[in-house]
Amino acid sequence: MSEPLAEWVRDILRCPVCGSPLRDGVRPDGAPEIVCTGDACALAYPVRDGVPVLLVDEARPSSGTVR
Ligand SMILES: [Zn+2]
Repeated sequence: MSEPLAEWVRDILRCPVCGSPLRDGVRPDGAPEIVCTGDACALAYPVRDGVPVLLVDEARPSSGTVR
């Protein structure tokens, strides 16, 4: 069971690849994720038990980023 990320946590986090802010998202399987808002990056990072996993190896490409 995954908890959504706390808002203040997401607000202070930045994408480790490009430094852009992150937004909330939902993976196709319904699990929470945080998505990079950088146009050229747009990686989506998993959130496990409320803890964001900001690892490039764990991220998946996310096309169609909404800002
Ligand atoms: Zn990024």
